[in-house]
Amino acid sequence: MKYVSTRGQAPALSFEEAMLSGLARDGGLYVPDEIPQLSADDLRAMNGLSYEEVAFRVMRPFVGDSFDDETFGDLIARAYAQFDHTARAPLVQLAPGHFLLELFHGPTLAFKDFAMQLIGQLFEEALTRRGERVTIVGATSGDTGSAAIEAFRGLDAVDVFILYPEGRVSEVQRRQMTTPTEENVHALAIDGHFDDAQARLKDMFNHFEFRDRVRLAGVNSINWARVLAQVVYYVTSAVALGAPDRKVNFTVPTGNFGDVFAGYIAKRMGVPIDRLVVATNQNDILHRTLATGTHTLDRVQPSISPSMDIQVSSNFERALFDAYGRDGNAVAQLMDELKTNGTYHVSQGALEALRDHFASGRASEDETSATIARLWRETGELLCPHSAVGVYVACETRDRSEPMVTLATAHPAKFPDAVEAATGIRPPLPERMADLFERDERITRVPNELDALETLIEERIRT
Ligand SMILES: *Cc1c(COP(=O)(O)O)cnc(C)c1O
Repeated sequence: MKYVSTRGQAPALSFEEAMLSGLARDGGLYVPDEIPQLSADDLRAMNGLSYEEVAFRVMRPFVGDSFDDETFGDLIARAYAQFDHTARAPLVQLAPGHFLLELFHGPTLAFKDFAMQLIGQLFEEALTRRGERVTIVGATSGDTGSAAIEAFRGLDAVDVFILYPEGRVSEVQRRQMTTPTEENVHALAIDGHFDDAQARLKDMFNHFEFRDRVRLAGVNSINWARVLAQVVYYVTSAVALGAPDRKVNFTVPTGNFGDVFAGYIAKRMGVPIDRLVVATNQNDILHRTLATGTHTLDRVQPSISPSMDIQVSSNFERALFDAYGRDGNAVAQLMDELKTNGTYHVSQGALEALRDHFASGRASEDETSATIARLWRETGELLCPHSAVGVYVACETRDRSEPMVTLATAHPAKFPDAVEAATGIRPPLPERMADLFERDERITRVPNELDALETLIEERIRT
C-alpha cells in the first residue's frame, strides 16, 4: 500500500513514512493510492466483535508492511484501554431512526482521542524501532491539542508543541493542555485565531531547513493515520444498525473535514452509507461550498462550538482530489487560487461528484442552544454544542426511511458554559479528572510570527 500526495508532486510513501511526515513536501496531503474493500461477508462477520477487533480488520490493509499483525493488534489494544466505556463508541437512540454515536469516552472527552491515542502508540513503536526522535508541532482549536498532549506525554522519542488560539478555547480544553507536568509537552498560546495557528504550522512544514533540522512531524487531522483511525467507528455503528443489509446516513459536526472524510473512506470501502451530512456552525464555508460551488474565505466568527470555528478546512483538499478524478495539478491550482485570492470555484463535474456523497447544513448560535435545550427536555441527553449543531442539521435534513447517526464529538462537560446557558444544568467532569481546576497550569504566550516560534521550539527540544 502506497500513499500519494493530493498535489501530485511529492514521492509516494509507505504508511509509516506518511504517518511520520504528516504534510507532503509539495504542500499536499497523503491519500492511499487504492481503497481496500470490505465485502458484505466481511461486514456480516463483524457483528458482535469488540471495537478493537473491528479496528484491526478495518485498518490492517492500509498499514501494509509498516507493522506486523501481532504488533498492530497490541498497539490497538493499548490505544483504547483508557476509554471508560467497553463499547468505546456506543450508540444511543434519540428518536425513531435517529441515533447518537458517543465519541467522547476517551481520556480528553472528545472524538480526537480515537485517533490520537492510537497515533501515540504507532509513533512510539515506529520511532523506537528506527532509533529516531521527532518534534511534533500541532495547531488546535482546543480538542486536538489536549488529545495530543495526553497521548504523547512522557514518551521518550517525541517533543510536542501545541499552538492554540489564546482566549478562544474553553477552560477545560486549556487546562487539559496546560496542566500535564511532563517535560516533553508544551502548550503555546498564540496571539490569533485557529487559522493563524494552522497557517504558521504549514509555514514550518514548508520551511524545509527547519523541518529537517528538528525532524518535524505533524499530528493534525492532515495526518493520514488520524483519518484512518476514525474510519473504524463508522464501520462499527453501521454494522450495529444492520450493514451490509441496511443503508445508513451520518451527520458529522465539521471543521477541518477530517472526521467526515473518514466516513467517506468507510463508504468507499464498501460500507452501505447513503449520505454524509456536513454540519457547520455559523462558520459555514463548507456548507456554502457544497450549496454553490464557490469556496470563499470569510472572517472567523467565534461561536459556542469553538472546535468548528474554522475557515481553512484542510482535509477538504482530499475530497477535491477524488472529485477531480485524482488530478493533482487541478488541486494544486485551486489551492494556489485560495492562497492568492481567498476563493476558488469548484467545476460542475467535481461539484456533482462531491454531492454524490456529501450533503450539508448549518446551525446558527440560537439553533444550537435551542437544540441542546430540546434534547435535554425530550430525551434527557446533554449534548455539547458541537454535537448539537449535528443533531440540528440531522433533524433538518433527514429522510425518515433510513437510519441517521449523528456523531457526538465531545462530552458536554468540556463546554459547560454553553450547556448550562441552554439547560440550567452544569455537567460535571468525570471522576478521574474532577481535580482539573486545582492543578497548576504552564502557559507560554507566543506571537503570531514564524521566526519567533521556530526559535522557541529549537530552544526547548531535548536532544
Ligand atoms: C475537531 C472537532 C470537530 C471537527 O472535526 P473535523 O475533523 O475537524 O471536521 C467537531 N467537534 C469537536 C468537539 C471537535 O473537537
